[in-house]
Amino acid sequence: MCKKRPYTLLITLSTFISLIAVTEFYSYYALKNMHEKPHDFLVISQLSAIFLILGCVVIIYIIWKFFSDLINCNSKDVTGIHNKKALENKFSEIAQRSDTMNVGMIMYDLNNFKHINDTYGHERGDKMIKDFTCCLSKIIIDGSFLARFGGDEFIIIQENATPELLKNMSLKLFRIVEDFNNCTDLKISYAEGYDVSYRNHYFLIEDLLNEVDKKMYRDKVYKKKITGDQQQQYDDKNDLGIEMFSEHMLASEIFSYIQSNTENNKLALVISDISNFHYFNNAFGYSVGNNVLKTIDHEIIGAPYVIFTHHLHSDVFASLLDITGYDENTLTSKIIWNNKKIINQVSSQNHVCRFMINSGIYIMESNYVAPEVMISNANAARRQAKLNNLHVCCYNNDLRESESREAKILLSFQDALKNDCFKIYFQPKVNASTGEICSAETLVRWLDNGKPVWSPDEFIPLLERTGYIVELDYLVYEKCFNFISKNKVMQQNDINFSLNVSPAHIHAPQEFIERVMTLAERYSIDLSRIIFEITESAFIHQKEQLNEMIDILHENNIRISMDDFGSGYSSLQRLGDINFDEVKIDKQFFRNGITDNTKIILHEIIDMLKKLNKTIVCEGVEEEEVVNFLRKEGCDEMQGFLFYKPMNEQEFTSVFSENYDEAAS
Ligand code: C2E
Ligand code: CA
Ligand code: CA
Repeated sequence: MCKKRPYTLLITLSTFISLIAVTEFYSYYALKNMHEKPHDFLVISQLSAIFLILGCVVIIYIIWKFFSDLINCNSKDVTGIHNKKALENKFSEIAQRSDTMNVGMIMYDLNNFKHINDTYGHERGDKMIKDFTCCLSKIIIDGSFLARFGGDEFIIIQENATPELLKNMSLKLFRIVEDFNNCTDLKISYAEGYDVSYRNHYFLIEDLLNEVDKKMYRDKVYKKKITGDQQQQYDDKNDLGIEMFSEHMLASEIFSYIQSNTENNKLALVISDISNFHYFNNAFGYSVGNNVLKTIDHEIIGAPYVIFTHHLHSDVFASLLDITGYDENTLTSKIIWNNKKIINQVSSQNHVCRFMINSGIYIMESNYVAPEVMISNANAARRQAKLNNLHVCCYNNDLRESESREAKILLSFQDALKNDCFKIYFQPKVNASTGEICSAETLVRWLDNGKPVWSPDEFIPLLERTGYIVELDYLVYEKCFNFISKNKVMQQNDINFSLNVSPAHIHAPQEFIERVMTLAERYSIDLSRIIFEITESAFIHQKEQLNEMIDILHENNIRISMDDFGSGYSSLQRLGDINFDEVKIDKQFFRNGITDNTKIILHEIIDMLKKLNKTIVCEGVEEEEVVNFLRKEGCDEMQGFLFYKPMNEQEFTSVFSENYDEAAS
């Protein structure tokens, strides 16, 4: 028998009713024999009849239940869920419908189940089947039909399904199994495939079954490839309540979708993020930030052409779109429009302002491109989107070329280091009142046989992004210190050297200071002659860390300069917050000579900096008019092509010697 408990209850109930009926009859006859009043006879006889009828009803119900359960038992598995026979009935019932719209299917297959049976015995195997069934039972909802159709294979047929619903069920199961695995030594691992007859992919039930089976198989292959660690990331649910996907999982899902795209619908991958979400978090608070992410997630999922959307990490969302019928321009406009809509929606709901959504689009080509490459291309377009006014960029040939250039730079970087292709150049700075060389900025050059290979503007930002800049910076410092230590002219004269510090060092201030000190000791450098230039944007977030680093540098007589002041996210507040010694006003101010408005702005800036006791340096000086203006305003040092261009070590030594001799004579 399938379930014993209902029968025990029913039999107890019917026995109880029968006992009452018998007692009533007994009372009836007892009273009759005692010649009691007719009224009592009537009541007791009625009660006896009622209990007799009740008893009969319960007995008939028991018999009906017994037979119906006997029939049902044929459709239930030992684990209590539907078996293969019931599943076949379900399939034929669906096949008779006029369509399979909104029928969803999820298939599961336990991984390594044979190995578990063989290694741990069939009892452990059976237990695992029961445990997994138990986990599956927890995700079923209204309209779910759960069945076991093979030794370790299960299926859920879901009525009124949407891809989103199946995704949620899948993620819920993942979490349940993960919780279960945390408390057991024999962990459950399963492959899964799901799909739904929905919108633009509409299947006969057999087609749906085949597709889901294929997806499950691919998942099995895929899960064999990824490590346990990566699998864990699958459902790294953050405190927003939005499931976060790893790029591996995204690639797997894109792959599955492409395979199921038998109608060859045109697809695009869009990866979006929010500009400066951290500033935004700081300004409005984390709970508002979280709400914003939730609204964005919700709005993207709801867009009409979206097949699925996943929250990848922090503020990054990836969506697969069905763009059949759209060309690149229409799609771009649509995304711009949609992003604007989301921004308006978010702004009105969360009372926040001033943020942008950047979207990188990769339109899938007719030939097969690996999902990992698609993701990387969409990400490249997203990075580019941050730089254009519309904040949306489609991966194109220009981007492909710049990607390939970047790949070449990165591939040749290590060889260039080994072959000593990085050389230092110096660009002298002059004292604004005397015109004499008072210091020099050390600038790196990538040369091959004396000829430039890549310009700093090409390779420095890339090395910064990839972290390689750290080693290059130390190499430049070492070369500069070596140059000073070997060069008598430099030692005998009071000239300062400035060195660029990549923002990456702020994350490891201790290492930075130790390595600089070690190098300074090795080459016997008087550190009071060294100024480290840090770009202004690096000051924005790491105020405390930066001040800590500056304090230690100050203890060792090293000065710090705020580079590129006035470019990017200029903040006057930083002038008071950070304990730097010098400010380098950015060359952008003098890009096209100097306008009256620029003069007004610079007048105020220089005045303020003087009051704050900072040394003022202006870079990018190319015109006499600029020199005159800066001199009048009281700028301390000037650097620019009008005076000197960056030059190699020998040129610099001779230029400096000449300048020194002239000054001496
Ligand atoms: P930066 O630190 O702002 O360096 C000044 C840049 O302005 C140099 O470009 C220099 O050649 C250029 N410059 C100087 N005077 C003028 C002028 O009158 N007009 C114009 N149009 N440009 C002028 P460079 O050498 O190409 O360097 C570009 C950037 O690369 C540097 O900007 C700096 O951010 C970075 N960089 C260079 N060397 C290093 C290094 O050793 N380490 C790090 N981390 N970054 C470096
Ligand atoms: Ca600089
Ligand atoms: Ca600069």
